[in-house]
Amino acid sequence: MQAAAIAHSRRMAPAKVNLALHVVGRRDDGYHLLESLVVFDDSAADEIGLCPLDRALGSGEDEAGEESAASVGGPADRLTVSGRFAAGVPALKGNLVLAAIELAREEFARFDLHLPLLDVALTKNLPVAAGIGGGSADAAALLALLAEAAPHEIGPEVGKALAAASLRLGADVPMCLAGRPALVTGIGEAIRPLPAMPPLPMLLVNPGIAVETAAVFRMLGRRDNPPMPPVPADGFSSLGDLLGFLAETRNDLALAAGALAPEVEIARARLLAAGAAFARMSGSGATVFGLFGDDDERDEAARRIAAAEPGWWLSRSPA
Ligand code: ATP
Repeated sequence: MQAAAIAHSRRMAPAKVNLALHVVGRRDDGYHLLESLVVFDDSAADEIGLCPLDRALGSGEDEAGEESAASVGGPADRLTVSGRFAAGVPALKGNLVLAAIELAREEFARFDLHLPLLDVALTKNLPVAAGIGGGSADAAALLALLAEAAPHEIGPEVGKALAAASLRLGADVPMCLAGRPALVTGIGEAIRPLPAMPPLPMLLVNPGIAVETAAVFRMLGRRDNPPMPPVPADGFSSLGDLLGFLAETRNDLALAAGALAPEVEIARARLLAAGAAFARMSGSGATVFGLFGDDDERDEAARRIAAAEPGWWLSRSPA
C-alpha cells in the first residue's frame, strides 16, 4: 500500500447560506428531499490546518488549542480546537472532522492508499448549530485537503470518490465541497452550479441560540411543500433579478425553527428595520441573512445591530 503524501496545509471552511430552502418530500428511508439555492460567505469561515501526526509530535510544538482529542486504547488522529466557538464543538467522538478522516481513510484504502495518522487544527470561528453548516464546511475542507494528498495520476478519481462518499457525513457536505453558488436538490447530492451570481452585500446575524437541526425537522408540519420556481439556467445577473426570484421562494424550516427559537424572528425583524432589502433564516437557523442595496447600507445596518445587540454574532460579506 502506498502512503498518501500529507503536507502541512490549511484551508478555509466558509459558511453556507441557504438563500431559499424548500422541503418537498421525504423518502421511505426518512431522508428529506430538499431544493435549495446556496451561496458561500468567504468572510465567515472556520479554518482547518493539517499535518501528519508524527511530524507534529516530533516538532515539539505546544498544543495551542482549548481542546484536543486522543484515542482511548490506541493511536489516533489528533484534533485541536481553538477559536471563539471552540467550546460548542465536540472534541472527541462526534466531531465531523474526525468522521471525515475516517471516511477518507476508507475511500483511500479502495485506491490502495494508506492515510497516516493526522494532526488537525480547527479554528472555530463560526457559531455552532447555527444553520450555516459549520461542521459540514469543516468536514468538506478536510476532505478537500486530503484529496490533494493523493498521487497526481489518481487525484481526480480520488477526489470524485471523496465527493460521492461525503454525503454519508451529512446532506450539506457535498455542497460545501463544491463551495460555489448552486441549486442543490435530492437529499443534498445533486448540485447544479450557477454560472452567474451578482455580488451580494450581505449581513449574517446569529442571535446566540443554538438550534438542533433534527429538532426542527421533527417539528415540521408539512414535508411535501410546493417546489421552488425554476432557477434560470444562466443564474442571476443582478441583485434585482435575485431578489425577484427570492420573493417567490421560502425557507420551509423557518416556522418550526421560529417556534423553537423566537430569536430567529427578532433577528430577521432587526435586519429589516436596519434597511435590509430582504432577510431570511438560513438552514435550520438561527442565523438570519440580510441582503442590502450596497455595502454602505450593509455596514450601517451592522453598526446599528451590533450597538443594539452586543452579544450577537455578525458577519459582513464581502468583508
Ligand atoms: P446544518 O446547517 O448543516 O444543519 P448547522 O450549521 O446547523 O448545520 P453545525 O454547526 O454543523 O450546525 O453543528 C451541528 C452539530 O454538529 C452540533 O450539534 C455540533 O455539536 C456537531 N458538530 C460536530 N462536528 C462539528 C464541527 N466541526 N463544527 C461544528 N459542529 C460540529
